[in-house]
Amino acid sequence: MPIDQMLRQAKAACVQCSYCTELCSRHMLGHSLQPHKIMRKFAMGTDVDEILEDEDVKQVLICSECGICEEYACPMGLQPRRINSLLKALYKKEAFRYNRKETEHKANAMRQYRKVSSERLAARLGLYQYYHLEIDKLIELRPKTVAIPIQQHIGAPSRPVVKAGDAVCQDQLIAECPDGSLGANIHASVAGTVLETEERIILKG
Ligand code: SF4
Ligand code: SF4
Repeated sequence: MPIDQMLRQAKAACVQCSYCTELCSRHMLGHSLQPHKIMRKFAMGTDVDEILEDEDVKQVLICSECGICEEYACPMGLQPRRINSLLKALYKKEAFRYNRKETEHKANAMRQYRKVSSERLAARLGLYQYYHLEIDKLIELRPKTVAIPIQQHIGAPSRPVVKAGDAVCQDQLIAECPDGSLGANIHASVAGTVLETEERIILKG
């Protein structure tokens, strides 16, 4: 769905049932994230800069984008995860980082009853006809090239330690987390030659 249409739908059709929050995986773990409140503020707001100042909206930074709210919970077919993703990108542009107030999180007492069954999720996604499909043959896929993004999370982008033309072995370190930052090292998924290291490390096997 184009972003404009998705935003118009969010403003017009959110009924504030709060199912997105009741099933939100982060909310169930005890985080303050409440996607229905973000939808409400988003629907009522006219100025996006004002919305970004809102404490409820700032909680969007802890959203893991698991997709439960939009793929499973929302009865109106809205896309809270996608809106969260847009808001997170705006915060990132402003270099605003999540400021955790709580020192401890207490999981919601209902959490164990609100886990999503993969079978029901498949039905919800219209994929149930494939759910019990059995795989009788496995083949090993050997791609000619792989592209590995150097930023795969909200933390600091990894810094390439290889350059174009280098030969790398499978599992070799190809990008490392900068000192003093929160992030992750990246290793080569295949052996090959480095073609490019800008934004993605491209390896030709
Ligand atoms: S995508 Fe974010 S808001 Fe939606 S359920 Fe997952 S963690 Fe919660
Ligand atoms: S589940 Fe959908 S309709 Fe209900 S509050 Fe969340 S976004 Fe709005």
